[in-house]
Amino acid sequence: MLQQVNGHSSGSVAQNLPLLREGLQEFLGGDTPLHQLDDLTKVNPVTLETVLRCLQARYMADKFYTNAGCTLVALNPFKPVPPLYTPELMREYHAASQPQKLKPHIFTVGEQSYRNVKSLIEPVNQSIVVSGESGAGKTWTSRCLMKFYAVVAASPASWESHKIAERIEQRILNSNPVMEAFGNACTLRNNNSSRFGKFIQLQMNSAQQMTGAAVQTYLLEKTRVACQATNERNFHIFYQICKGASEDERLQWHLPEGAVFSWLPNPEKTLEEDCFEVTREAMLHLGIDTPTQSNIFKVLAGLLHLGNIWFADSEDETQPCQLMEDAKCSLRTSALLLQLQEDLLLETLRIRTIKAGKQQQVFRKPCSQAECDTRRDCLAKLVYARLFDWLVSVINSSICADPDTWTAFIGLLDVYGFESFPDNSLEQLCINYANEKLQQHFVAHYMRAQQEEYAVEGLEWSFVNYQDNQICLDLIEGSPISICSLINEECRLNRPSSAAQLQTRIESALAGSPCLGHNKLSREPSFIVMHFAGPVRYYTAGLVEKNKDPVPPELTGLLQQSHDPLLTVLFPTNSKEKTQEEPSGQGRAPALTVVSKFKASLEQLLQVLHSTTPHYIRCIKPNSQGQAQTFLREEVLSQLEACGLVETIHISAAGFPIRISHQNFVERYGLLRRLHPHASSSLYCQSVTKRTSECPPPAEEATLQPLLQDILHTLPALMQTVTTHN
Ligand code: ADP
Ligand code: MG
Repeated sequence: MLQQVNGHSSGSVAQNLPLLREGLQEFLGGDTPLHQLDDLTKVNPVTLETVLRCLQARYMADKFYTNAGCTLVALNPFKPVPPLYTPELMREYHAASQPQKLKPHIFTVGEQSYRNVKSLIEPVNQSIVVSGESGAGKTWTSRCLMKFYAVVAASPASWESHKIAERIEQRILNSNPVMEAFGNACTLRNNNSSRFGKFIQLQMNSAQQMTGAAVQTYLLEKTRVACQATNERNFHIFYQICKGASEDERLQWHLPEGAVFSWLPNPEKTLEEDCFEVTREAMLHLGIDTPTQSNIFKVLAGLLHLGNIWFADSEDETQPCQLMEDAKCSLRTSALLLQLQEDLLLETLRIRTIKAGKQQQVFRKPCSQAECDTRRDCLAKLVYARLFDWLVSVINSSICADPDTWTAFIGLLDVYGFESFPDNSLEQLCINYANEKLQQHFVAHYMRAQQEEYAVEGLEWSFVNYQDNQICLDLIEGSPISICSLINEECRLNRPSSAAQLQTRIESALAGSPCLGHNKLSREPSFIVMHFAGPVRYYTAGLVEKNKDPVPPELTGLLQQSHDPLLTVLFPTNSKEKTQEEPSGQGRAPALTVVSKFKASLEQLLQVLHSTTPHYIRCIKPNSQGQAQTFLREEVLSQLEACGLVETIHISAAGFPIRISHQNFVERYGLLRRLHPHASSSLYCQSVTKRTSECPPPAEEATLQPLLQDILHTLPALMQTVTTHN
């Protein structure tokens, strides 16, 4: 190698000196201002501290994107940065011969994926995994990428589509405001927080034009329809209809100005997202005509009135609960809007029918006040979840291309990041489980990429110290016994189980797992999982019930009797209701639990991801107040941990800490061979010497640094001499 170094350094000393100086400076991490470092693996040495300093310096210099090896770190600017997202800039990245040489940007990732798809040898599907915590900028990023493809991969407008239908790219973009109106809400952490996960597949034909798209959604937070945390809001669409309806529509939908709905908290907060016109316009472009839209909004208004139905507790257990006085009007209006029989609605809300015995005799049992409330909420969730799924299917039928018109796809995954709250339950378990899976996928890919990089350079190397997160995944989903299997079993047994019982079962059955934390200090029954991103305590109270997500069959039966055209579509009578909504036991097939359904969809997603070349964008929120120009190191650090970047940094620090291609190395340091043979070989050794956390850097390093520093200092004089001599 060093001979090669020698051979390459045959250029004139005068030519090579400035290069050497630059190289030495870079090596010593000296003069390059941190904000100019485009790649976190180039900071020297790669440690958490230097990485944080670099990100902070870049953020303050309005540089929001930074590479981290094969990952792009995106800091949320929390302020408009218009020049960063212009069509001109998109075209610039698209036209660049080497987009990776331009400043780090999501367009580099977009363009790289696009070029991979274009590969003439064989079209390879691509995926871009966008992750980060709520408010970090995932949805913004995926929206921008969709716009990028709408510009660079536009299809030629066909004549007939010219006037009648919107161009396909436009239609795909229009799916955003619709999905966001129905699936996003204002939360404490993000005014426009997506309450579902999304995988959108952008379909490309052999001419690399976008011919269509398909959306898959995950885990809509349907409880939000009937229950909103303090200072949070319901889904945007409810506020949009209340604020944006015309006089006529207000009459039709029974939404008088100033009406108060208990499921509509914080209506006074006016958000940009409350624009009804934008939603309607987008729906229209997706082929949802005005009458159908009105029908949807009428049903939603029906749900708002349903939320105002309250019962008084009955003193006599054999008698059904009475309606509160002012709920009578709400019952009537709700029944009217949902086109249900008023008395049937009331009956269904407050009387449970139980089939029992061999003859399946029907018993009617009045519900307690709390049970009535649960049934009311359940009814609303049922309608909303079906409506959302239906909308997604309508969107898909509007944007999906014929299977034989496309040959490859670019998938954009916008999913909730790792979550750890004071109170974690089934939702967080599912979300963190998904993140654990994605992390495993990421690490496997990252390792492979590193190995390949080394192989190209002819270096031998293996990851000695790295621990995969398989153990944690075994704890969550493994067979035969795991947290998921135990929760599912409780559901299957259909027995009254206490929160404490579940905790004990998990603790005793899974005691051997190193990822099950020690459960002390908590009075409430809970268990701790040591995730790659940190430990999380999950409370077991209500876990089993949430996992069952039971829907009383009477509720589905009620909705099947509605005369409303939309509800007739959402709840058809002729088809058999899906088994998942039937109660388990009673001789029927066991119901699918939330966890099982989630696991199945996650596996499907991972299968798709495995069949693609992945790209990763990690969105980071520099502060939780949403303020521009504010970089809170602690908050950023915990996100770097949660998105696995710290792991990546460790892996990369455990590899070769300095990455320069051989060619580049020769160009930069070749001259050193002549000036100082010892420094040259030490420098080279250090660059290619394996470093692990247990194995300290080579001994020469201690002497190498001052030596190089010395050479660097004498360079100006040397350059002076050389220039004068020439
Ligand atoms: P997430 O989907 O990760 O929860 P969002 O994408 O909704 O977060 O972003 C939250 C908010 O942050 C956005 O509504 C927007 O105001 C701001 N934001 C995110 N990314 C950018 C960006 N690149 N430029 C300007 N503002 C941004
Ligand atoms: Mg989002």
